[in-house]
Amino acid sequence: MPKATETTLEIDLNALAHNYKYICSKVRPNTKILAVVKANGYGTDSVIIARELVKLGVDYFSVAYAIEGSSLRDAKIETPILVLHPLPVNFGLILERCMEPSIYSAKMLVEFIAFAERKKQKNYPIHLKFNTGLNRLGFDKKDIVWISEQLQKTSSVKVKSIFSHLAASEDPSEDAFTAKQCLVFKSISEKLIGVLGYVPLLHALNTSGVLNYPEAQFDMVRTGIGIYGFGNSPEENKQLKPVASLKTVISQIHSIAPGESVGYNRSYKATDVTIIATLPLGHADGINRAFGNEVGWVTIKGEKAPIIGNVCMDMMMVDITLIKCQEGDEVVVFGTNPTAEELSITINSIAYELLTNVSSRIKRTLSYK
Ligand SMILES: *Cc1c(COP(=O)(O)O)cnc(C)c1O
Repeated sequence: MPKATETTLEIDLNALAHNYKYICSKVRPNTKILAVVKANGYGTDSVIIARELVKLGVDYFSVAYAIEGSSLRDAKIETPILVLHPLPVNFGLILERCMEPSIYSAKMLVEFIAFAERKKQKNYPIHLKFNTGLNRLGFDKKDIVWISEQLQKTSSVKVKSIFSHLAASEDPSEDAFTAKQCLVFKSISEKLIGVLGYVPLLHALNTSGVLNYPEAQFDMVRTGIGIYGFGNSPEENKQLKPVASLKTVISQIHSIAPGESVGYNRSYKATDVTIIATLPLGHADGINRAFGNEVGWVTIKGEKAPIIGNVCMDMMMVDITLIKCQEGDEVVVFGTNPTAEELSITINSIAYELLTNVSSRIKRTLSYK
């Protein structure tokens, strides 16, 4: 990969393939893999990621909103797409682009069946989402009989899968809770299959579920963060490779005297002669203001350069007093050093948030390392 000459998000497709194969190695060979490419492929580029995953043999994609799936269809991706959070206003788009809605409430089921009937659909695939403890989206166990009554009255839809989502699969201290969620999901699925009279796919695990509870893999697993290079422990992170690296360059270097300040509100004040570098990215690019004032850092020539002063909208300043570097040199914001996880921890956040915040104005480039 040539050195960055402007702010760039490098997408490493070899890392993607490596991570995908690693996740596959953790489940049975016949377990289907659903790759989650919501939020523009966790901040990368959902089309680039999806195209590569199609080559790798992925079974399913998932997005949060219908509009995200629509971009995949525009790119001629024909793999089934589960829309995790459809809203009735998007039913038209979902049907038009052959996407498959997660149906999570009575209102949704009634409205989607009515819609599918109006559109003269037969066995349109839907996915029934059950709440087993996350308390976010999903039917309750007690809805099963009502659901089966609605389904018996129509042939416009067919249940392609039954699924649930774990609340704390990454947290060993919540092991008992997670085990209970898996059991509840199993009993809901069995009961529902009994009344449906056919057997849909079952799935409950996200990435950390795959890593910690492979016994609950059922027919399919939904992996997001894992394919982008993060597991849920330092050991697992070593087995995975970050797909996204955010790089930039030094725009300008200043030497400031003791007593001088840096940036808005003069929040950094130099006590000694300090060399600072100005970088062309800021909070509008996804660098949270909380990283300012020496909380976060970037890497220049392999060395840590603390972010000083307040992060501006389009720029930020770092302390390079101890680093031999010049204007135009490459700067790593996150990638392998620091990783998105290491950097996000400094502001009590998670890799997911830092990755998905990378703004759309930042150029994406591909690397096959
Ligand atoms: C985002 C999401 C996933 C992926 O989770 P990871 O922790 O990134 O693997 C899986 N299932 C649902 C329902 C999600 O919303």
